[in-house]
Amino acid sequence: MQSLLTLLLLCVAACSAYPVDRAAEDGDSSMDLVQQYLENYYNFAKDVKQFVRSRDSGPVVKKIREMQKFLGLEVTGKPDPDTLAMIRKPRCGVPDVGQFSTFPGMPKWRKTHLTYRIVNYTLDLPREAVDSAIEKALEVWAEVTPLTFSKIFEGEADIMIFFAVRDHGDFNPFDGPGNILGHAYAPGLGINGDAHFDDDEQWTRDTSGTNLFLVAAHELGHSLGLYHSADPRALMFPVYNALTDLTRFRLSQDDVNGIQSLYGPPPSSPDGPAVPTESVPPGPETPAMCDPTLSFDAISSLRGEILFFKDRHLWRKSLRTPEPGFYLISSFWPSLPSGLDAAYEETSKDIVLIFKGNQFWAIKGTEVRAGYPKDIHTLGFPRSVRKIDAAVFDKEKKKTYFFVGDRYWRFDEKRQSMEPDFPKKIAEDFPGVNSTVDAAFEAFGFYYFFSGSSQLEFDPNAKKVTHVLKSNSWLNC
Ligand SMILES: [Zn+2]
Ligand SMILES: [Zn+2]
Repeated sequence: MQSLLTLLLLCVAACSAYPVDRAAEDGDSSMDLVQQYLENYYNFAKDVKQFVRSRDSGPVVKKIREMQKFLGLEVTGKPDPDTLAMIRKPRCGVPDVGQFSTFPGMPKWRKTHLTYRIVNYTLDLPREAVDSAIEKALEVWAEVTPLTFSKIFEGEADIMIFFAVRDHGDFNPFDGPGNILGHAYAPGLGINGDAHFDDDEQWTRDTSGTNLFLVAAHELGHSLGLYHSADPRALMFPVYNALTDLTRFRLSQDDVNGIQSLYGPPPSSPDGPAVPTESVPPGPETPAMCDPTLSFDAISSLRGEILFFKDRHLWRKSLRTPEPGFYLISSFWPSLPSGLDAAYEETSKDIVLIFKGNQFWAIKGTEVRAGYPKDIHTLGFPRSVRKIDAAVFDKEKKKTYFFVGDRYWRFDEKRQSMEPDFPKKIAEDFPGVNSTVDAAFEAFGFYYFFSGSSQLEFDPNAKKVTHVLKSNSWLNC
């Protein structure tokens, strides 16, 4: 009994080893399929072998109705075509209902800082794509809770993540391509909290195969203590949704309510009810794009778009499309740090230089160039300069302005050397720019200087400020 309870607590498919014969369309096979599904995900007693053949059997109809209700199907109590189509869809291996869901003391982590470890990698994707998908998936939950995560590379992490096929040592074998994509265990010691991914799936960055980020975000929801949701818009809905538009991915309100019922809202959000009210938009909205106090860490153009960096995130604004995209920095450049200081695009080399502290990186598209980070002092700054506040590239003169405190330096990109006679006072050569610059970039021949929540448009030819704007004016706020 103890082991049974443990298994149920572990939130594990009772059995997922039966191969599903997709070709079999006859009634008996369909009913076998239904039986397996009910056994695996709806806690249907495995020893009631005869049930499926007698279609008027009360418990079966009741169970099918329960499944149809949960999955948002028409409740007919029969294995109709819609129901059969639904149960053939790829999904999570964790049950939808089971005694565990009513087990007293819903398991959750008793600490807010958790470790994770990626024990092995699928060969379907480059390692950094796996790292990035997992990081992004954890971020989904970290943004709406006080939870934080750090990655470890050896030893036992709270959340051990691995890829496996078929039998993999936890009595919950995977099933080959399709159907079960992964499963995960509720919070606790040992295997609890761990997430496993079926490596017989074709894992992809986009949705051409099985998108690793989407499945990982779902499975890690289990690792944090969430069970399946009957809300088809929820990330915790058990069936994989291949139609999700990744650029618009947001947690549903149901997911947010669920996770915040366990851990509460993130510390930065105002002291309010743990469950957000209707007026609070769902999803990872921190930092809020249209917050009137929003400031930026760094801003740069990149191949015709403008990147606004803030903490771990960036907004990506294309002048061709109205809505800016919101991303984690790590989803494009996993090796870059968060909380950047400065960035600028050297357009003639198609390179963006990114600064933090005494280090800088060069990126070309989504690739971080080899040999970086380098020390900023290799550019010619004196030792007294510990960090750069902002940088902007002058396309015509091929020179870069670096702003540090109330002074600026000018770097000759052709000669790759700092110009003599610098630093100079910002206020003298950029009249009107009187406070420390957080971020700067060039567009349409103007320089835009950001300081806190305000922005100055500066005409370098006329040498004057031409407009005062809110920092987030570029984000349609
Ligand atoms: Zn699941
Ligand atoms: Zn497993």
